[in-house]
Amino acid sequence: MPNHQLAPLVEPADELTIDEVRRYSRHLIIPDVGMAGQKRLKNAKVLVIGAGGLGSPALLYLAAAGVGTLGIAEFDEVDESNLQRQIIHQQSDIGKSKAQSAKESVLETNPYVEVVLHEERLDNDNVMQVFEGYDLIVDGTDNFATRYMVNDAAYFLGIPYVWGSIYRFDGQASVFAPTLAEDAPCYRCLYPEPPPPGMVPSCAEGGVLGVLCASIGSIQVNEAIKLITGIGDPAVGQLVIYDALELSWRKLRVRKDPQCALCGENPTVTGLIDYETFCGAVSDEAAEAAAGSTISVVQLEHMLKERAEGTRDFVLVDVREPNEYEINQIPGAVLIPKGEFLNGNALEQLPSDKQIVMHCKTGVRSAETLAIVKGAGYADAVHVGGGIAAWVNQIDPSQPSY
Ligand SMILES: [Zn+2]
Repeated sequence: MPNHQLAPLVEPADELTIDEVRRYSRHLIIPDVGMAGQKRLKNAKVLVIGAGGLGSPALLYLAAAGVGTLGIAEFDEVDESNLQRQIIHQQSDIGKSKAQSAKESVLETNPYVEVVLHEERLDNDNVMQVFEGYDLIVDGTDNFATRYMVNDAAYFLGIPYVWGSIYRFDGQASVFAPTLAEDAPCYRCLYPEPPPPGMVPSCAEGGVLGVLCASIGSIQVNEAIKLITGIGDPAVGQLVIYDALELSWRKLRVRKDPQCALCGENPTVTGLIDYETFCGAVSDEAAEAAAGSTISVVQLEHMLKERAEGTRDFVLVDVREPNEYEINQIPGAVLIPKGEFLNGNALEQLPSDKQIVMHCKTGVRSAETLAIVKGAGYADAVHVGGGIAAWVNQIDPSQPSY
């Protein structure tokens, strides 16, 4: 695992009042935090995106810890179905603005916190303005379009952020800080592309164990405090994976992708893009190529068996990035990242007399490379619907998913 001893993100405030010293005494007597660390927390400006499942515990613990300024970006209203996990809101808050409700709970927890509300939906027109001036962002959003926008805007402004995601019994977290360390990845390094629409159900569709929000939200605060005060080894370049049913934590290494569209050597994303379109759909060419040329992971498993028996021959190509390939693999796949198809190098590496079978994470990128390969004359080429995500899910659950 990479070790990132980063300098504290925030300079210490001038002083703590007597009341503050009393309040934070259990922090002050930890040598690693001490007076200097607590003063850094007091001076810190942290923006929490969403006062929902992750934002609720994150805001309460950031407030209790003494973070001096807390921004809350939230435009929704409290619904009864939120109360199963969004513990910052209470019965009497139903129907109220979530931002306002969260602010009241924060101030009830710690009146020394300055709360700034951003009661608007974050979009390309306001995101840079909202983010500006914050030292750190804690991302508790639940949709991909916003996540990519948060990642890109934070990168352009040089603001590190702590990301978390939850679904049913599974949680993930990481710190994305490509401007703080040379080898530090961004969200796009880990997830170069969003899942196809409808592929990953939201918590609203699939459900979430309420207490999972506390597990992941508190990890996000843990990382935020470490970054602000400069203690410990933050999860920069690390993907933390939590399985509540197994009660297991895992850490996977996430490398910076030199080909990353945002923080790589030749970036193609140099400003905010249309995130709804980006997360919307595959291209027409890819959809056309995939029609009738998509196999299931069960079919692939059968084909691999036949190949092992010598009754069938084909080349299985994994078109993901090397850092994704390190996390999980379909046995026997050769790695040729999508970029190699776009620049034409991949075609030289493919045999002309064998069937080409391609896969990626969920089937979006492999549909695009399928269009290229078919265009080059491989009429019988196919790709794997659902990609390695489906493979892990249906064929080999012993491998990690991401
Ligand atoms: Zn990146």
